Formats: sequence, structure tokens, C-alpha cells
Amino acid sequence: MSVLSKPYFHDEAAAFTFVEGLIWPEGPHCRHCGSVNRLTKVTANPEKRIRHGLYRCGQCKGQFTVRMGTIFEESKLPMTKWLQAIYLMCSSKKGVSALQLSRTLEVTYKTAWFLAHRIREAMRDGALAIPFGEDGGAVEVDETFIGRDPDYSGPGAAYHGKCKVLTLVDRQTGRAKSQVVDKLSAADIAPILEANIAREARLMTDEAQLYKVLGWHFADHGTVNHSRDQYVSPQDRTIHTNTIEGYFSIFKRGMKGVYQHASKKHLHRYMAEFDFRYSYRIALGVNDEARTNRAIEGVVGKRLTYRGGTNQRPEATQA
Ligand SMILES: [Zn+2]
Repeated sequence: MSVLSKPYFHDEAAAFTFVEGLIWPEGPHCRHCGSVNRLTKVTANPEKRIRHGLYRCGQCKGQFTVRMGTIFEESKLPMTKWLQAIYLMCSSKKGVSALQLSRTLEVTYKTAWFLAHRIREAMRDGALAIPFGEDGGAVEVDETFIGRDPDYSGPGAAYHGKCKVLTLVDRQTGRAKSQVVDKLSAADIAPILEANIAREARLMTDEAQLYKVLGWHFADHGTVNHSRDQYVSPQDRTIHTNTIEGYFSIFKRGMKGVYQHASKKHLHRYMAEFDFRYSYRIALGVNDEARTNRAIEGVVGKRLTYRGGTNQRPEATQA
């Protein structure tokens, strides 16, 4: 049986029950006063405009649904379509374009575009609970260049005019964390490494001057010489950046093949999407269904508001 034939992808009541189970594992609680008692479920009745998933609180007399305070809140889209969209984005290797989403879900392009960006917010991890490289594990750090950086003007090699992405991969847990940065200077990069990598870690980078300055902060620092096409140290085979090269190749294929026109101001959300799928990938024992559920659990507290309100047009983009 295909995963997509599950009732919560087609039946609105089942979709609410499913999402409530993930977001409220201990049962519903009132969005207004926090009460877990005297909550009554109101029977959905579309003719009387009574929404699915509506609860009434006997304590404060307020009404709420599981959508409140989540990325689902400001949309009239049925929950079934949200769940289909999340599943599609979680199960595709390289991502799903807004055009593809709009065709599959039968929604407008604009709806699909906003939907996809909200789902990327749900995929975004906040601060790491456990820093990378704890217990002395290896953490690979490298940067890549993509698209055009509209904030840059001036001389320099071609990559200076591109958007800069710094990625960290914890070799032990297999997780990735990326950040869009304005400059690749020690002053810009140091706080990112210090906030996300344990001091006990073995840092793995190329021989860029930048990392030489930062390496002392960690227990060990192994380097390979990318400019001489060296990706594994001949002296010590554990010194390499192969893991992060693998991450970048998935990211680059996705950005080229699916999200051709991602702009700098949205790039961090695309990075969150690639980090998410990579960190919860099948090789780490996470299947499509578990990955989808993990994304749904991330919808809480991630409401995305765009400056200029909801009338702001999505960019002329195919992504
Ligand atoms: Zn209440």
C-alpha cells in the first residue's frame, strides 16, 4: 500500500486527528489558557461553517484548533493538502518545485510557493541541543557558492559575487547545518563555529587561511589541500572532507535541477530544507514517513510572516 493512500492525506477529519497526535502527544490543551481539562470537541459541520478540529474550552470559553500558532494557521488550505505537500517535500531527494507542487496539489502557483516556504520553516532547526563533535568526533566544515549575491559590489574572483554558504557536518551523527554568510572572514565564521561545534571536536577543513586562525579553538584540526585536489590526507585517512563534499553535491543538484532561481533572501530556507533531508536521511535509518512526521512536529511556533503582508507577490521564479 502506497503511503499516499493513507486516510490522512484525503480525509480532513483524519488529517486533523493525525496532526493532533503528533503535536499534542499528551492530548489537546487550550491555546488561550493552557487548560487540559473541560475541553469539548465541536463536531465539524461545513454547512454551518464549523471547522474541522475545533475545540471549545470550558475554562476560558475560548475556541481553538491545532492549527493555531503553527505554520498552518494563516492558510485556508485543507490539512490534507498540507500533509501531501509536506510528504512530497520530505520524500523527494532534491526537493519539489512550486510549479510541481501547484500541479500535484491543484493549488495556484502562489499558494504552492508560500506553502513550500512555510514547510521549509518547519524543517528549520533552531540552536543545536547538542553541539556537533561532542565526545571528540570529527566535524567537517566547508563553504560553497551559489547564485548571485546582490549585496556584493567590487572586485575579486567570480565567487565573491555569489552567495556564500557555510556548512558543518557532524561525521558521527551524520547531521548537517548550513548558514548563509555575507563574508568568509574569521570574524564572521568564528561565532558560527563556536556556537555549533564542541571544543572537544576534531575540526576538518581545507587549508584556507581562514580556518588556520579558527582551528586552535578546537581539540584538533585536520586539513586537506583542496587547491591540489587533495580530499583525503595521505598521512591520516581520517582527515578528509568527503562527507561534506557529498552533502554539497546533493545540494547543488537540487538547486540546479529544481530551484534554479532561489534568491539570497530566501536561500537560508532552502538550506534548511537540504539540511533537514540530509540530517534525517534513509542511511541514518529515517524513512519517508518518519521524516514527514518529524517535519510536522516542527510546525509549532514557526509562523512565517512576510514583510508587506500576504499580498506581496512571490518573486518571478520557477523554484
Ligand atoms: Zn482555555
